[in-house]
Amino acid sequence: MSDPVSEVAIGQRRLELATRLAAVRQSIADAATATGRKPSDITLVVVTKTWPPTDVRILADLGVGDVGENRAQEAAAKHSKCSELPLRWHFIGQLQTNKCHLVVDFVDLVHSVDRSSLVTALDRSVLQARREPLMALVQVNLDAPSSVSVERGGVAPAQALALAAQIASTGGLILGGVMGVAPLGVDPQPAFEQLREVSEAILDEYPSATIVSAGMSGDYVAAINAGATHVRMGAAVLGRRAYLE
Ligand SMILES: *Cc1c(COP(=O)(O)O)cnc(C)c1O
Repeated sequence: MSDPVSEVAIGQRRLELATRLAAVRQSIADAATATGRKPSDITLVVVTKTWPPTDVRILADLGVGDVGENRAQEAAAKHSKCSELPLRWHFIGQLQTNKCHLVVDFVDLVHSVDRSSLVTALDRSVLQARREPLMALVQVNLDAPSSVSVERGGVAPAQALALAAQIASTGGLILGGVMGVAPLGVDPQPAFEQLREVSEAILDEYPSATIVSAGMSGDYVAAINAGATHVRMGAAVLGRRAYLE
């Protein structure tokens, strides 16, 4: 049954991922400790977009508990090949309202809720799927007004509390906190500090919305410095993506 060639390839890939994962975990732990937090306060979400189900399997075997995907179809297809693994699935990409039904069956946390119509659509999909309530984060746009928008979505900081309130008012969604992507090519620290301020304003009204999803492979240390509870890392663990996501 087993193909010796692919077994060798998987063994090599496992070694590669184990090495990078160990380095990333150590670096996250160091960053947490440096800011007086416990390493266990930071959740590593390994972003598996563009990578095959075999990699997801290896990651689960290496003790990864959280994986992230940014496209509904890709996420659903990959999950269907890995559904028995003990993983939490995070949806981190822009989500069209007509694709919600593709992800609500298996996703544990949607990081990228950035508009009222998406709250309504997700809530409806959750109720139709008869699943337990789905945790949702408010994605906040952290681009400086002057910077070139990279179209990665996100509600304006001033609108975040209102969107949080809408999420909290639904039956199908649980408000988990906030998510942000720092602008590229500039110091990310001010953006992450802005996200922290939005998080604190939401926490004042919704004390259980403690999640701050911030930081990717290039800027996770700055994000942890600014209070990130979840870092979303692809390239640092899996390598550079061969094609555009
Ligand atoms: C792809 C992606 C990541 C991971 O990016 P890396 O640079 O590979 O770590 C994190 N967050 C979002 C929203 C993404 O789309």
